[in-house]
Amino acid sequence: MKKVHNFSAGPCILPQEVLKKASEAVVNFDDLNLSLIEISHRSKNVVAVMEKAQNLVRELLNVPANYEILFLQGGASLGFYTAALNYLSKDGKAVYVNTGTWAKKAIKEAKLVGNIEVVASSEDDGFKYIPKGFNIPADADFLHITTNNTIYGTQYPEIPKSPVPIIADMSSDIFSRPVNVSDYAMIYAGAQKNMGPAGTTLFIVNKDLLGKTGRTIPSMLDYQLHIDKESMYNTPPVFPIYVSMLTLDWLKNLGGVPAIEKINAEKAAAMYAEIDRNPLFVGYTAVEDRSKMNATFNLVDDTHKELFDSMWKEAGISGINGHRSVGGYRASMYNALPLESVQALVKVMQEFEEKVS
Ligand code: PMP
Repeated sequence: MKKVHNFSAGPCILPQEVLKKASEAVVNFDDLNLSLIEISHRSKNVVAVMEKAQNLVRELLNVPANYEILFLQGGASLGFYTAALNYLSKDGKAVYVNTGTWAKKAIKEAKLVGNIEVVASSEDDGFKYIPKGFNIPADADFLHITTNNTIYGTQYPEIPKSPVPIIADMSSDIFSRPVNVSDYAMIYAGAQKNMGPAGTTLFIVNKDLLGKTGRTIPSMLDYQLHIDKESMYNTPPVFPIYVSMLTLDWLKNLGGVPAIEKINAEKAAAMYAEIDRNPLFVGYTAVEDRSKMNATFNLVDDTHKELFDSMWKEAGISGINGHRSVGGYRASMYNALPLESVQALVKVMQEFEEKVS
C-alpha cells in the first residue's frame, strides 16, 4: 500500500495499530467468534468496553470524582443545544465567545434555550484571532468557548480565567494538551478527531451543577438520565466507543497527554517554521493564537497553485485543502499524525520554492 500522509481535518487519521485491532474486532471480538457489532450492548464484554473507555478518559485527563463521562450520539452539534438545556437556568443567562463557525452554531442553538450574551467575537477580522481580556459577568451560569477553531486554525493559547464555570467544545483539540477539568461545568467533543471515528461524542459532565435549570429535559437530551443509566440509556454506538477506547489506550501507552503535547508542539513548530520561512506562503491567523492542530496558510500568489497542488498530491499528501468557507490550505496535525508526515509536507513546500524561483 502506498504511504499516504493524511492531513484530513476530521474525520481524520487514527493510529494504524488501532485500525488493525478495530478491524479484527469486527470479525472476532474477544475470541467470542462473534463480531463486536453483532452482540448485545448489555453483554459483559461490551459493558467492559464502555467502562474501560470511561476509565481511560478519567485517567488521561485527571477527571475528578464529581464528573461523569458519557459517550452519546448526535455529535458536538447536538451538544451545542444540550449544553444550554442542561446548564442554563430558566431565568439565568450564559455568555459565549464567538470564534467562528462552530461557536456561532453553539450560540444559535443555545438561543433556542434561553438568554445568551456574546461577550467577545473575532468576526471583525475573519476569525483570525482569539479575543482576550473580555469581561465575564459573575452572575452568568456559564461561559462557553470553542478551544480550537478547526476551520480557521486558531486555538486558545490559555483558557480564560473565569469567575463562572466554563463549558468548552473541545472537538478538535481534546487529548492534545492537559486540561484542568475542575474549571469546567462541562467539556464535550465529537470523537472524530483525536479520539476515534465519527458516531459518538464525549461529554465530561460536572454532576454537581446539574438539575438546577428549572426545566423539564427530554430523556435523550438529559445528562442526568444518561448518568443514571451509565451511558447506556439507549443502545450506545458500540463500534465508535470501542475504537475510541483503543485510541485512548494507544495514547496512554505513548505516555499520555503530556507526551503527546510535546510531539504536537514539535509538529506544529516544524509546520509553522516553514510557513514563516518560505516566501511563497503566508499563515492565515494571528501568530500568538495559532492552532497546534490545524495550521492554515495560503499561497502569497496563486499563479503556481496548480503546480503546488500536483506536487503535494504526487508526494502522497492528502487532505490539505482549506475548508470551503476559508479556502487556501489547512494541514491538520492531530494526535495520530506522525512528525514524518509534517516533514514530508515541508519538503514539498521547499521543493516548490526551488522550482518556482
Ligand atoms: N465543533 C468543532 C470545533 C468542530 O470542529 C466540529 C466538527 N468539525 C463540530 C463542533 C461539529 O461536530 P459534529 O460533526 O460531531 O457535530
